[in-house]
Amino acid sequence: MRLLVIEDDRDLNRQLVAALEDAGYAVDKAFDGEEGHFLGDTEPYDGVILDMGLPLMDGIRVLEKWRRGGRTMPVLILTARDRWSEKVQGFDAGADDYVTKPFHMEEVLARLRALLRRAAGHATSELMCGPVLLDTRSSRVVVDGSAVRLTSHEYRLLAYLMHHQGRVVSRTELVEHLYDQDFDRDSNTIEVFVGRLRKKLGVDIIQTVRGLGYIAAPPEPPAKR
Ligand code: CA
Repeated sequence: MRLLVIEDDRDLNRQLVAALEDAGYAVDKAFDGEEGHFLGDTEPYDGVILDMGLPLMDGIRVLEKWRRGGRTMPVLILTARDRWSEKVQGFDAGADDYVTKPFHMEEVLARLRALLRRAAGHATSELMCGPVLLDTRSSRVVVDGSAVRLTSHEYRLLAYLMHHQGRVVSRTELVEHLYDQDFDRDSNTIEVFVGRLRKKLGVDIIQTVRGLGYIAAPPEPPAKR
């Protein structure tokens, strides 16, 4: 999952990015409304954290422009305390949720998880695919009851495929959603990560769809003789 943080307070921006990266997301950042709007308009983010008070273009305007342009990614807005009208304006402009400053990082992470899973059509924070359970709260993966240790790239790849279970995901889409802007992207590495994941999971839930990409689906039951 790839996120965008738009916050002009440098310290807060850094804290948010660090916490989100720790939680396993690929994160891009912007420090003003124009840059943030541009990134959200041109890059395929799975979610955005948008501060309302921003230089060059305020958060409401950024959001309005995205929505008018057909950008539908989930957006969590950061609002000042005691500014109820900001929240109303934010929702009217197309925000999906808000957090009031000052906030606890845990709350931001929890609200974001909820937004991401709802956007992908899941009701709970635990995703299942056959015998594989992925807990988006703890970033843990369990197969048939035993924990599997994954690197952050492997986890991101599996989480993306499991959020979009049953749909073919192209290599290009994976590259765009798994790495931040500054990452040296090489789509060949996706194949390497898929190979490692298959080995570590020990079950066949990631299938290659020749020429199209990959799909996560529960393993086929053994064919009847
Ligand atoms: Ca601000």
